[in-house]
Amino acid sequence: MRLSELATSEKGTITRIHGSGAFRKRIMEMGFIRGKNVEVIRNAPLLDPVEYRIMGYNVSLRRQEAWLVEVIPGEEYRVETSAGIFAGDQGCRHQGYRVDGKVINVALVGNPNSGKTSLFNQASGAHERTGNYSGVTVDARETTIHHGGYLINLTDLPGTYSVTEYTPEELFVRTRLLEGRPDVVINVVDASNLERNLYLTTQLIEMNVRVIVALNMYDELQKSGAKLKFDELGTMLGIPVVPTVAVRGRGILELLNRVVEVYRGENPISRPVRINYGSSVEPSLEALQKEIRKNGGAPDGFPDRYLAIKLLEGDRKVTAMVEGISGYRSLAAMAQAERNMLAKAFGDEVDSVMADARYGFIAGALAETMTPAKNSAVSPGRDPDSLLTHRIWGYPIFLAFLFIMFQTTFVAGSLPMEWIESGVSRLGAMAGNLIPPGSFHDLLVDGVIAGVGGVIVFLPNILILFFFISLMEDTGYMARVSFIMDKLMHRIGLHGKSFIPLLMGFGCNVPAIMATRTLENRKDRVMTMLIAPFMSCSARLPVYVLIISAFFEKRQGLVLFSVYLTGIVLAISVALLLKKTIFAGKDVPFVMELPPYRIPSMRNTFRHMWFNAKQYLHKMGSIILVASVIIWALSYFPRLEEGTRMERLEHSWIGRAGHFIEPAVQPLGFDWKLGVSIVTGLAAKEVVVSTMGVLYQGDEAGEVGTAGLGERLREQEHASGRLAGQKVFTPFVAVAFMLFVLIYFPCVAVIAAIKKESATKWALFSMFYTTVLAWIVAFLVNQAGKWLF
Ligand code: GDP
Ligand code: MG
Repeated sequence: MRLSELATSEKGTITRIHGSGAFRKRIMEMGFIRGKNVEVIRNAPLLDPVEYRIMGYNVSLRRQEAWLVEVIPGEEYRVETSAGIFAGDQGCRHQGYRVDGKVINVALVGNPNSGKTSLFNQASGAHERTGNYSGVTVDARETTIHHGGYLINLTDLPGTYSVTEYTPEELFVRTRLLEGRPDVVINVVDASNLERNLYLTTQLIEMNVRVIVALNMYDELQKSGAKLKFDELGTMLGIPVVPTVAVRGRGILELLNRVVEVYRGENPISRPVRINYGSSVEPSLEALQKEIRKNGGAPDGFPDRYLAIKLLEGDRKVTAMVEGISGYRSLAAMAQAERNMLAKAFGDEVDSVMADARYGFIAGALAETMTPAKNSAVSPGRDPDSLLTHRIWGYPIFLAFLFIMFQTTFVAGSLPMEWIESGVSRLGAMAGNLIPPGSFHDLLVDGVIAGVGGVIVFLPNILILFFFISLMEDTGYMARVSFIMDKLMHRIGLHGKSFIPLLMGFGCNVPAIMATRTLENRKDRVMTMLIAPFMSCSARLPVYVLIISAFFEKRQGLVLFSVYLTGIVLAISVALLLKKTIFAGKDVPFVMELPPYRIPSMRNTFRHMWFNAKQYLHKMGSIILVASVIIWALSYFPRLEEGTRMERLEHSWIGRAGHFIEPAVQPLGFDWKLGVSIVTGLAAKEVVVSTMGVLYQGDEAGEVGTAGLGERLREQEHASGRLAGQKVFTPFVAVAFMLFVLIYFPCVAVIAAIKKESATKWALFSMFYTTVLAWIVAFLVNQAGKWLF
């Protein structure tokens, strides 16, 4: 039972401490150690916290903390060794003895022939009892070692390649790990066959047990000529790695030191790591985990995510277990549905897709830390890597791919773009004819159809871009790209994986922000989110196209390229700055998965593409529609019956607002209309152009919208003030405006995404610093222009 369940004045003996890390350490420092007696002194008035007496002094614990301490009621209980705690072992309990409260239960796990038994013998050889007893179907041996003031119960479990359910050994090991919950697991790994051996390690990572890797047969590895940066590998896996030569007893003391350290929560490397299953499987896992949490968490010591993984894989034992517990039954059905859906999309069973992801995790970790022996064979399925992640060739190949991607996006997108454009204008004309003139007519034609239509034309480009991105993801090439970019990204304090969200940012920043989910480290995630908006998204492109074609006759492509480049340079500078200030500190390296190459199923690729496009459509259906209507209304009311269109506009709310903020944008060389466009662009940057279409209208009827807008911009003059009569746009003002649109406030949808993925604080920070930066950059450009001429 749990300590929190003891009544006032009852006594108990502590049998184990649950929880992890800092909490565990703290509670043990307070004296809550296995084997100690506790007495409940009193409950606080509201039943929380509770005062306990332990080791001769009184302490108070919150109820939820006390719940993590397992006790047996009564005094002077004989604490059993792990044999008694492991499940399924009734009848073979042995060697119960009184301990000084410092017992660590350690299990040895590893592939057959990795050297577990040798290690076990060496560790126990000079020491105490070695017992032999039978488990359910398979043997396990147990011994006790004194080390560093602790009593270590070491159990040698049968060899397994994995901990799934295929063989009795595997099942036995799994039951022991999950239900017995040893304090520390030593994973014995054959260093001369790392890729296969680490598969088991990935499963241990998922079971959320505290692991130490004994990198055994290290002598063989050295002899082969291969090199392994095992410290780095350990840091990536979040598992201390100790090289050992079990037959000679080398490294075993070191190993035991690590065991004590990890047990005490003092090892700096030991941390939970998450294996990422990719953008198709992760949402299913997330959905299952959510359902599990709704039921109050996974039963029987299963970590939530591990239970979700096993259910999705269709593990029969786990499924049966879940079906046996009321309240969890729906989970099995849900897992089945998700599994079928994924199997259809992949054209393959989900468990093999997930095994691939684990091997991809291993391949990624080894690619960064291991230099294989000269004559060793490349593992099958990863052959193209010798070219695609080549030290030199990797980059031109990637650049060529990028070029094809952007080129296709714009060239192949232009034709359907024209269709949609003419469709929208026909729809506008039709609606205009059908509906009698009046406010409603104007709202529908000038507000809704013009506003949303101006944006929907970009849908083909966006679909194509997302098609390429999905294709890169599904073939496994995306992972290689992060891999080859890792070095460069490290220079700016980011990780190779940040490259993908940044790349996606060129399409739309919303999915880019969501793509940061693959980054395990929170610091990297937030940093990536903060700089991703500088990757100029496709919504900003119409602004550039409008301005460049109006004010630059020559070298249009170069100007456009420079704008994009400015964004990239800013992103790098801001990253460097953040790294030195808010996010200073050491990086935690982590594994970049290198999944095997797959021929993507078109079905899956289209599903991805559609998922991304749906978010874009959603944005249009909601934010842009609302924004268009609001902008239209603000520029329509209050109505002036007399006067030119221009006078009416200046009389409207938006006209007044524009004049109000004019002083703020004047130093940038902008007039009040640009100021208004910037304000409306907060909703979505596509709206900047449609607002300009409304504001820079000619005096003649029909001179509205974006047709001929460039001409009207060129003729635009300052209406009043110091600059009255001068042209609004100089090339410098044009550039300042483009840069302002590039840099300032991403858009409402992106801010919402940042808030959802990180915290309100970062959303606010992002709003603020981008706008200030935009103002400064535009100011500098405008002042430079004045100074030069
Ligand atoms: P188990 O199946 O995991 O229990 O592995 P064993 O302990 O039975 O070892 C398998 C074989 O590997 C035996 O022949 C050992 O002598 C050998 N072996 C174990 N550890 C080492 C090591 O560190 N270096 C070398 N070269 N051989 C080892
Ligand atoms: Mg053995």
